[in-house]
Amino acid sequence: MQSECLLCGRERARERRHLCNYCNEVQNPLDFKLKMEKIFRINDVESAHIAADELMCELLKDLGYRKGIEVFEDENRWCS
Ligand SMILES: [Zn+2]
Repeated sequence: MQSECLLCGRERARERRHLCNYCNEVQNPLDFKLKMEKIFRINDVESAHIAADELMCELLKDLGYRKGIEVFEDENRWCS
């Protein structure tokens, strides 16, 4: 089941309080900055941080840092 994406509001995010695949796709440095600004305009601070983590993790994976991000995601699971 899909839920509402935190950034675009469409019903296509994998999980609650997450981003859809489209919003997770960073096009360039300016796009990344604009998405981060939009994320931190979300009123719920915890949701904003979850979304920012997700966006940064997906970007680092795309840049080839998948193994390190998998370590981060495994550890992060125990903190949320
Ligand atoms: Zn979206």
